[in-house]
Amino acid sequence: MYEETTIAAIATAPGEGGIGIVRISGSQAADVADALFHTKKIASFHEAEPYRLYFGHVVRKDQRVDEGLAVYMKAPHSYTGEDVVEIQIHGSTEALRETLELALENGALPASRGEFTKRAFLNGRLDLTQAEAVMDIIEARGSAALSQAESHLSGALSRFVKMSRDELTDLITKLEVTIDYPEEDLEDLTNEQIGEGLDGIEKSLSSLLKRSEEGRIIKDGLRTAIVGRPNAGKSSLLNALLQEDRAIVTDIPGTTRDTIEESIKIGGVPLVLMDTAGLRETDNKVEKIGIERAKKSMEQADLVLAVIDGSHALEKEDKELLSSLKGRKSMVILNKYDLPQEVDEEEIKALAGDAPVVSLSARYGSGMEELEEALRRLTETQDRDAGRRLFLTNLRHVDLVKKALEAVRRAQQSLKDGMPADCITVDLVEAWNRMGEITGETVDNELINKIFERFCVGK
Ligand code: GDP
Ligand code: ZN
Repeated sequence: MYEETTIAAIATAPGEGGIGIVRISGSQAADVADALFHTKKIASFHEAEPYRLYFGHVVRKDQRVDEGLAVYMKAPHSYTGEDVVEIQIHGSTEALRETLELALENGALPASRGEFTKRAFLNGRLDLTQAEAVMDIIEARGSAALSQAESHLSGALSRFVKMSRDELTDLITKLEVTIDYPEEDLEDLTNEQIGEGLDGIEKSLSSLLKRSEEGRIIKDGLRTAIVGRPNAGKSSLLNALLQEDRAIVTDIPGTTRDTIEESIKIGGVPLVLMDTAGLRETDNKVEKIGIERAKKSMEQADLVLAVIDGSHALEKEDKELLSSLKGRKSMVILNKYDLPQEVDEEEIKALAGDAPVVSLSARYGSGMEELEEALRRLTETQDRDAGRRLFLTNLRHVDLVKKALEAVRRAQQSLKDGMPADCITVDLVEAWNRMGEITGETVDNELINKIFERFCVGK
């Protein structure tokens, strides 16, 4: 066990709830629990049957604080891998704080952020990707992000890392053979196999990175630009969207005073609305948002909502905007549907290609359900995929895979250039180490052992 200390914390979310849990972990967990929780069934948690619930009371000097249930989990079969006692009482802030205080008065130290999970990692209960996934689950914004975090927790990423490293080990071993038996025939054969092996790894790492770009979107939300001619109804649409999402509206102040991004959820799809300050500000000023500015925000966007005033015939700017939607994830909002329509949907389709067209009235909020539905359809394929296939949602992982991929590509180049085998090995070992850092496994020794394990004994 990595630490002698016993830690305690309130494990449930702050605020009132049906039940609340105080978690105590460490070698003294049973002693700490004995001092504050009394049950008729047993005199001490040292005698407790693990994983069984005991009814009793939290007490301070024989005064009852609350009634509840306690469970004892024996090391190493607990979340942290240590002895754990969890005390479930009523979810009142007062009672929970009192219970935690009692734990601290009786020998426990307050747990720091993520410390239970950190202990789980240090005690080998979780690898790094799984520990990180626990944090992602707590923070997940959309349901696709949640299922991704869950699949990391269940070890999909760890398995991918292990597979990639096994393949690399295999290649390194083969390269060693060419060093030891440099006869022509053998070398040619091996080089071909190594080339194929490298191509395979290159492909699987680069496609993982590509999917991860999609993963970022699912986790953080689609960066969404609302663009259109002055007076088309951009600000009105923004307000209507913000009203639709009654649950989450957060202001993310940007680096400059006038960039504000707002994160909302429409039809289950998380959107990060770009430059909302710009949209809001312009209401009582002459609007300066021209096609240039629109283009700029479109470049940074994952999704473009192009707002067109349906009550006026298309102008040159509208047509330019619509033509620039091709090849982007985008949607055309035909606004002011409450007024007589001067714009023909066919005309729009001819210009904008595949982008779905939704007619609505931003001012009166009608047609918002259709917008939600269209958004859901637009992001659906990606969403469904995400639940099943592995991608990276963590920047540390992305960075390490990128480095591993670079090393693999260097190795491919060296092979092509006919460099000696050990030059290639250096890069493969680098890739192997980078991948290992993802799961937090220890390095070098393990590689050396593996190579010798598989290697011929005669040498
Ligand atoms: P922006 O310049 O693109 O941000 O457009 P605004 O949202 O500021 O709207 C310009 C004008 O159009 C305002 O007077 C709005 O009240 C009006 N407007 C916006 N949406 C609608 C709508 O759906 N129907 C009608 N009749 N007027 C609208
Ligand atoms: Zn405006």
